[in-house]
Amino acid sequence: MNKQYRKPVFIAFALLLVMIVISIFFVTYMQGLVNKSILMNLGEITKQDAEKIQNRIQEHKRILETIVKEIEEENVKTEQDIFNIYNRNSGNTEFSRMAILYKNGKTSTSDGKVVDLSDEINEFFSEENIQISRSRRSKVDNDEINIYSKKIYFQNEEIVVLLAIDNDKYRNLFTQNIFYGNGIECMITSKGDMIANSKNEENNGNVFDDFEKANEKEIDKINKMRTAILENDEGQINYKIQGQTYYISYQKLMIEDWSLIVIVPGNVIAKDLIQLLEIIVMIAMMIVITTLLVTIYILISNIKQKEKLYELAYIDSITNLGNYHAYLKEIRENVQIEGKKTIIILDIDKFKTFNKKYGHIKGNELLKRIGEEIKASIRKNDVVCRLGNDVFGIFFTEAVDFNSIIERLNQRLTRIKLQDYWYNIRICIGVYISDVHEKDVQGMIDKAIIAHDSVKGNYYEPYGMFTQEIEEKLSKESEIENMMEGAIRNKEFVIYYQPQIETKTGKIGGAEALVRWNKKGKCISPNDFIPLFEKNLFIIKLDEYIYETVCQNMKELKKEGYRIPKISVNVSRESLMEKDFIEKYIKIANKYEIRPNEIEIEITERTAVNDKIDMKHILEQIKEKGFGIALDDFGTGYSSLNMLEELPIDTLKIDKSFIDKIGQSHEMIHLLEIIFMITQKLQLKSVAEGVEKNEQIEYLKTLQCDFIQGYFYAKPLDYTTFKLYIRENTNDL
Ligand code: C2E
Ligand code: CA
Ligand code: CA
Repeated sequence: MNKQYRKPVFIAFALLLVMIVISIFFVTYMQGLVNKSILMNLGEITKQDAEKIQNRIQEHKRILETIVKEIEEENVKTEQDIFNIYNRNSGNTEFSRMAILYKNGKTSTSDGKVVDLSDEINEFFSEENIQISRSRRSKVDNDEINIYSKKIYFQNEEIVVLLAIDNDKYRNLFTQNIFYGNGIECMITSKGDMIANSKNEENNGNVFDDFEKANEKEIDKINKMRTAILENDEGQINYKIQGQTYYISYQKLMIEDWSLIVIVPGNVIAKDLIQLLEIIVMIAMMIVITTLLVTIYILISNIKQKEKLYELAYIDSITNLGNYHAYLKEIRENVQIEGKKTIIILDIDKFKTFNKKYGHIKGNELLKRIGEEIKASIRKNDVVCRLGNDVFGIFFTEAVDFNSIIERLNQRLTRIKLQDYWYNIRICIGVYISDVHEKDVQGMIDKAIIAHDSVKGNYYEPYGMFTQEIEEKLSKESEIENMMEGAIRNKEFVIYYQPQIETKTGKIGGAEALVRWNKKGKCISPNDFIPLFEKNLFIIKLDEYIYETVCQNMKELKKEGYRIPKISVNVSRESLMEKDFIEKYIKIANKYEIRPNEIEIEITERTAVNDKIDMKHILEQIKEKGFGIALDDFGTGYSSLNMLEELPIDTLKIDKSFIDKIGQSHEMIHLLEIIFMITQKLQLKSVAEGVEKNEQIEYLKTLQCDFIQGYFYAKPLDYTTFKLYIRENTNDL
């Protein structure tokens, strides 16, 4: 089961369990209550019935007493006299007949029968008081009867007067149909011998014999009841025989040692109550289960929703790996635990080209495969995420061995198979191993990125670890960043002008303004700060500052009577991309009364290529205002020759790397010839950069190169030296 579902399902089942326990408690409790109330009711019924029975039996006894008294008082002489007394008194009694028992067993009955009861003589003659017999078979008509008897003297002889009552009638003593005929009332002796019962059942057994069948546990209860009855006590119990509950109530009678006991099966007496209870429990359970189901449903859909949100927020749809946010989250959670961590930033070399060449679908497939391969080369608990484009982040919760991880990744990632075709790819990897206590997640990732960037483009070893040197370089950069604003204010940025010599005349035809950072007498090369300024966008400010200073110098030179050459100013891509670039630059030119056509703006080849469409538009605007445009470092970037036709360029500056090859590489020279041919065809001016040797000049002259810029003629010169240079190298002053 999904780990996330475990908790709510567990909670739900725990709840269910609790509810079941509560239900069982409730049912047991209710059953207890029901039992108690049933037993109480039963006790009440028994008491009432006992009273009723007592009264009736008393009445029977009174009739017998009356008869006996009359026999004694009236000095009767014959049996017939006795029967007459009986007939007189028995008008509305339930007795079926009277009998006179003689010592010899001879028995005469009021309905004229004579039977022999000699084997029962002892029973009847043993007691002086009125006796009531258990049920028995009548010797007269074999009916089930009970007998009331009393010993008297008749003509100086002991006889017993018997009054027989039919068992059917005797049963009327009891409440008939007690509990719809399911219950039974019994009159028993204190030993449990049955006197009579409300049902037409065998009457001479012992009720305890039946109870004996009760199981071991219940026998205790029965024994208690047996003792209680023996002691003429009253009470109620419930007990079970073969799964059936019986409720029993016993109550002593004021007759002999007898008790009345009422037995009712539980399913009858508690039927309605238990049914009600069952319904209540069922409803309660249904409510509980429904609530539970709803709870589970809500919990699960909640989790699902969370998962969906998580997916949206944290999952990369192409690779199904985590995205940048997931990567951050993962690392953030883990840095709480102390210890070294490893962060790896990995990207694919020339992924853009792959995309262009094979299409985006293949590109996405490649990303997916790479994700899978990285996953396969790390352990289950290590993390890989796709941070964006073709960049993957890997995270280990310990310091990994740099070489072995590079080897492992390389093994799987140098050749990738996509649908039966193998593709060779190259990956670039940056690694950062954190300190034990390090917690700045973004900083850690940044360091891995820095390590990555520091080796990006290395052909043979594109794998790098974040090192002390890199850190030093960074701190140097941050030092520069801290000082750059102040440097403008303190006029630490100074301009050097490098003359451009016209090949035809050997005189100065132009100059390029190049910045130097003069920090406390130390001159810092632009190569050390321009790339950084391009990154942090300070270049926008610096370019503008240099441009304005150039304009200022030009105005001054003019004022001093110099015939000034066209000045080239370097402008970075970042400056050009500024919305109000042209307005700003025109405004500055106006301020110093410089016409745009006195200035040439140099953009590098890379600038022109990277944002071709935008750049074309921007350059057209620059051109429209009258500025010259030079394409710098031509030959180092990716520009195609037909791009030269598209962009509004005036001047092509051929990079020093070409010039260096003059007199060395034939292929390069051939290329140079083509470049110059095209330059002339497109009527562009040409400037050769970095010319240091005379032979280079000679050759460039044969190619009809227009201008030469290089140490051979002049290094970049400070303003004062530049002024001298102009004076000496201008055609006419
Ligand atoms: P770049 O625009 O290609 O400038 C030419 C660079 O080549 C200059 O380096 C220059 O000193 C050097 N150079 C000229 N002739 C020779 C030679 O015969 N031999 C050798 N070895 N080098 C020669 P620098 O001044 O160090 O400038 C480096 C780069 O900095 C420039 O390259 C340019 O891209 C950038 N840069 C300089 N100033 C500015 C500026 O004000 N704004 C912007 N955006 N970039 C600037
Ligand atoms: Ca330049
Ligand atoms: Ca250049």
